[in-house]
Amino acid sequence: MERVYRVVCPGSFDPVTNGHLDIIGRAAGLYDEVVVAVLINVTKQGLFTVDERVEMLNEVTRRYGNVRVEKFHGLLVDFCAANGISAVIKGLRAVSDFEYEMQMAQMNYRMAKVETLFMTTNPLYSFLRSSLVKEIAKYGGDVSGLVPELVLGRLRERLAQESPPGQE
Ligand code: ADP
Repeated sequence: MERVYRVVCPGSFDPVTNGHLDIIGRAAGLYDEVVVAVLINVTKQGLFTVDERVEMLNEVTRRYGNVRVEKFHGLLVDFCAANGISAVIKGLRAVSDFEYEMQMAQMNYRMAKVETLFMTTNPLYSFLRSSLVKEIAKYGGDVSGLVPELVLGRLRERLAQESPPGQE
């Protein structure tokens, strides 16, 4: 049987940014299939529901042709086992990401021999994280160029619903 080289790119993606997309796109060039796994975190409410995040990710990754978007809860290693995945790919933005990511990588290897590969961020996006995008957008700051056009529109819609003008 032919072997499929598959990698998982896990995260919250609330919402997907151009930094995420850069990593996903580069991984899609290296692997047969990239599975983007959106974490269902019951203790933390996001700006977008998990289904909305999945829908946006599906839309913006469609052009790659070999990216699949799923949601998951529980342990990433269990998701990997259930989906025939032996490696995780993570983007590293700065040294500050490293300590936490190294612990996770070593724990995942210890638990299930799941490997983690680190891809250095595109310097254009090394300062970018979803929470910062949301914070800036919330106060009317310009986040164009940091998230896909589709997400830009969704952010505007959502934030307009959340805080009607003059009602902070
Ligand atoms: P965040 O809320 O910080 O954007 P996520 O949990 O949604 O984080 O991100 C999932 C993963 O995507 C992160 O662990 C990181 O590996 C990667 N990532 C996020 N933003 C970037 C970026 N700007 N450049 C490279 N990788 C990134």
